[in-house]
Amino acid sequence: MILGGIEAGGTKFVCVVGTEKGEILERKVIPTTDPEETLNAVIEFFGGQSIEALGIASFGPVAVDPAHPNYGSILKTPKLAWADTPILHILQEALGCPAVIDTDVNAAALAEAKKGNAWDAKSCLYLTIGTGVGGGFYNGELLHGRLHPEMGHILLPTGLDGFKGICPFHGNCLEGLVSGPAIEAQAGKKAELIEEEDPVWDVVAETIAMGLVNFQMILSPERIILGGGVMHQCHLFPRIHRAFYRLINGYLPFTEDQVKHHIVYPGLGDDAGSVGALMLALNSLEDKRRVR
Ligand code: ADP
Ligand code: ZN
Repeated sequence: MILGGIEAGGTKFVCVVGTEKGEILERKVIPTTDPEETLNAVIEFFGGQSIEALGIASFGPVAVDPAHPNYGSILKTPKLAWADTPILHILQEALGCPAVIDTDVNAAALAEAKKGNAWDAKSCLYLTIGTGVGGGFYNGELLHGRLHPEMGHILLPTGLDGFKGICPFHGNCLEGLVSGPAIEAQAGKKAELIEEEDPVWDVVAETIAMGLVNFQMILSPERIILGGGVMHQCHLFPRIHRAFYRLINGYLPFTEDQVKHHIVYPGLGDDAGSVGALMLALNSLEDKRRVR
């Protein structure tokens, strides 16, 4: 079965053609400019392929509930040109196949649960730590709620080292404290250029662990996957494991060894979003069959 997937991001749209097993057969990267130009290029790419369904893993905020009056539209966003763009509707009309949209991080959680490092877990939290911080949750289905989770904006205490955070809305939310730009603001240089020995990483790891403890207490995930550019710093994993274990403080039944297998990197690497888009496409076909 040939499916289409789009990982729609603020800088690029990664379009893939692949199978229901999540194998990627073809890929095209289209820069994110204005909606008309970008979506026309997307339509041109998929128009030449015979896809049975399309999955869109989108930046947010996006209306992901089919009952929402603006289902499938990008909502109020700092990327002003894209606000109110009915992205799902436009692509569905142009390509004439079933299509479904969800957040990029929900799609990544789905992909990791089906094909990645949470294949053996019943529930999976996926957190990306990059330009922003966002999270998705799969527990047999993807968590939407009133809009969709905005896990990067949970509020955390300031003052681990006096840094107040850079989120324009909250200052010291998780994103305001540990996103790539937040780390850069603390250290005075790009996150990828900071040495492993720099004490800023201890603060970053402690803050990430604090966020993860909160997610653990609320959602009780069986596995936590950490992706995004910042997590390319592999030394963060053992630091986060130690801090998570210490902060849980025996309240939940975790051994130190279990924590190492509980919080892991994405098995699909940077393809989690694209594979997730293919899994969304597959879901849309299954939904359709169920309705019939
Ligand atoms: P995006 O979030 O824009 O989709 P990324 O997940 O690659 O893209 O995140 C980009 C952010 O991650 C930037 O702030 C960058 O400084 C940071 N980053 C990228 N690579 C690394 C790295 N190897 N180590 C630390 N930070 C990194
Ligand atoms: Zn915030």
